[in-house]
Amino acid sequence: MFKRMKLAAVLFFFTHTVSAEWFSHSFEVMGTQAHVEFWLDDSVEVKSTAKQMILLVQDEMHRIDHAMSPYKKTSELSLVNNKAGTESVVITSELFELLTESQKIAELSEGAFDITYASVGYQYDYRKKQKPDQASIESALKAIDYRTVILERKNSTVRFSHPDVKIDLGGIAKGYAVKQCLELLKVAGIKHALVSAGGDTGLLGDRRGRPWYVGIKHPRAEEKTAVKLPLSNESISTSGDYERYFIEDGVRYHHIINPKTGDSARKVVSVSIIGKDPTYVDALSTTVFVKGLQEGMAFIEKLPGYEAIIIDNQQTLHVSKGLQQQ
Ligand code: ADP
Ligand code: MG
Repeated sequence: MFKRMKLAAVLFFFTHTVSAEWFSHSFEVMGTQAHVEFWLDDSVEVKSTAKQMILLVQDEMHRIDHAMSPYKKTSELSLVNNKAGTESVVITSELFELLTESQKIAELSEGAFDITYASVGYQYDYRKKQKPDQASIESALKAIDYRTVILERKNSTVRFSHPDVKIDLGGIAKGYAVKQCLELLKVAGIKHALVSAGGDTGLLGDRRGRPWYVGIKHPRAEEKTAVKLPLSNESISTSGDYERYFIEDGVRYHHIINPKTGDSARKVVSVSIIGKDPTYVDALSTTVFVKGLQEGMAFIEKLPGYEAIIIDNQQTLHVSKGLQQQ
């Protein structure tokens, strides 16, 4: 009898431990590497298995990619780019809200973040080492102004007030996708999770009693980490000039564009923004990258709830006041 009880206890312990553990999965989406990690335990009302959770995240990222990719001819974004220069286009409430958020950040940043940067942005091909010449840049600049994007909430439409305007959501869509995935995991009962897409990471809770450690890549040594930050229940986004770039005549051409000049922003090499909202930290890291150290840091210091880590051209690390106090 005693032996049997012991066996039952061992069995209980065994089944208990296998039903509570960390799961993780990495996959390719939106031209980058995505990662999901979460704790699944039987005290949570989770009916689904880890596999289903992973599928949930994967499907959501692919769904957003299909809607918002400029490289997919059938995406909703492509449809808007093809038509909104000549007529009002009815869009999904999801795209409407993301465009509204993009416009808010454009206004707040006085155009440092501007989704209409695309009319020049689309002329760069970093893999083929192609960039527009000065004449093409100047003609494209005429169509770069976020105020040309007219959103009408009543009918859920978008229209461009200049025929050549193009938009791109590369500076905000990955953060939005991370936010959506975290929300899905939360609704499914998960309390500890990390979701990342490229340089955008969102965290749900902590790593069970300890913080998550999120690394910021060393901007000039590929496999190295510049800093590791202990974070819980936060999101962090890093924008760097080392992700997509080529060098010509000693000048680095990369994927973060100053909308005022049509050229790559070169005041700093890496910007990380920390805050609660994954969508905002994504757009804000691009914004501060364009603004550079002084202006960018001053911008973040005025924004409650957001902190910045900036690596300048001399590879010196600067942190906002809120991080210095910790
Ligand atoms: P990553 O895409 O590597 O995560 P970022 O979050 O910094 O990096 O976003 C860079 C992307 O943002 C570019 O690839 C481009 O799609 C878009 N982008 C570039 N410059 C701007 C800008 N000034 N305003 C808005 N979006 C931009
Ligand atoms: Mg960004």
